[in-house]
Amino acid sequence: IRQLRKRGKNNRALLVKDAHKLTADFISELPFSLTRAQQRVIDEIFSDLGRKTAMQRLLQGDVGSGKTIIAALAALATLRAGHQVALMAPTELLAEQHLQTLSKWLSPLNINISLLTGKLPAAQKRNILGAMSNGETQLVIGTHALFQDDTRFLHLGLIIVDEQHRFGVHQRLALREKGRHGKYTPHQLIMTATPIPRTLAMTAYADLDTSIIDELPPGRQPVETAVMPDAKRHEIIQAVQKACLDGRQVYWVCTLIEESEALQCQAAEVTAGTLSEALDGLNVGLIHGRMKSTEKESVMEDFRAGDTDVLVATTVIEVGVDVPNASLMIIENAERLGLAQLHQLRGRVGRGSTASACVLMYQGKLSANGRARLSAMRETSDGFEIARRDLELRGPGELLGTRQTGLLQLRIADLSRDADLLEQVPSLAVEIEAESPNMVPLLLRRWAGDVMSYGDV
Ligand code: ADP
Ligand code: MG
Repeated sequence: IRQLRKRGKNNRALLVKDAHKLTADFISELPFSLTRAQQRVIDEIFSDLGRKTAMQRLLQGDVGSGKTIIAALAALATLRAGHQVALMAPTELLAEQHLQTLSKWLSPLNINISLLTGKLPAAQKRNILGAMSNGETQLVIGTHALFQDDTRFLHLGLIIVDEQHRFGVHQRLALREKGRHGKYTPHQLIMTATPIPRTLAMTAYADLDTSIIDELPPGRQPVETAVMPDAKRHEIIQAVQKACLDGRQVYWVCTLIEESEALQCQAAEVTAGTLSEALDGLNVGLIHGRMKSTEKESVMEDFRAGDTDVLVATTVIEVGVDVPNASLMIIENAERLGLAQLHQLRGRVGRGSTASACVLMYQGKLSANGRARLSAMRETSDGFEIARRDLELRGPGELLGTRQTGLLQLRIADLSRDADLLEQVPSLAVEIEAESPNMVPLLLRRWAGDVMSYGDV
């Protein structure tokens, strides 16, 4: 890890001097003041941006901790220093939401923003690609379409990746390659809401420095979580009705064990139909992955505006979606989901100042593991604690998923079992470097040969 980082420090970057000054006017106009954790993280990022070597920073902050404003500030400083910025999100829905949020914040400052997703009509896409490559587009927000073959930037200064756990390590590095120009490498800010235990972060994100937002904005109340069998559906629907009559908004999430998107969408359609009948006088909306982008946008728009009371959704809303007035979440088949996913889904509520609740519905008899997961959800809303339990229940490989196993694969150590030993490793590494420098290349070749060339990308 030390060796990989040393190499990373050779990447020259475009300077962003005086980032604090470049953003002071914007910060003073915000409708809220930054939390202490947000300020600390901003200081860390701004000091990186002011260096000649490319920032490679992982920003961990639990769901709802306010990462978007951090992204906006890093972007604004870079833009005002005269460089381009790319923001990549894992879903169209989230890219679209970021476009809205960032346009609201940055368009009044005459920042030119474009959206690039895979589904754009060809002519429109050509225009945006043109504007990116000639520098007219300053900030581009998009999905993985951002690192496809035909994208070019003029002088990309900063890459921001939101919900990094949804992308693979390769995709992140591919986007960085896109942005290289001459001897310059763009700064990288990698954001994730899925907290991972420190020992795991050490290996999965070996090449990154870490910042943590460990504080939620003021006024948030913990989401009260209940676990209920499907047999209580009728009562749950009554609770939904009552919540809506009180002016609250509700997500009803349909999940299925099969990864088949078609089946998931179908289930959501059926549920939307039955809820619509059961909830007389209330507006029930529907959103799923098979709808056209424009349809999805208008559904989200209605929900955001408060015109829709209940939004029936597939897991398309899992990451990033931010509608603070929504304060009740129902998740069907919760026993089949992993802890990280449940935590993300539940994170869609509890984003405003109203007390929020989440109902985890399950079918049939719970397995021991399923019961352990649902209990964990009921007992804690702390993302780090949930990640720790997830690591225990599933092991590191599954926790990160195959796309996310990271730069370093451990051959012998077990991250849960050996956590205390791993703590001692960094100082031992320093010792070996100092006392037996000749051993370093040999050890690396023996234990991490493939990784070292990979880290070079
Ligand atoms: P996440 O970290 O999950 O991406 P968001 O950036 O979407 O969180 O922020 C969640 C909500 O909290 C948004 O509505 C955002 O405007 C609001 N928010 C962010 N920072 C603060 C703050 N310091 N004070 C009050 N509200 C904030
Ligand atoms: Mg977010």
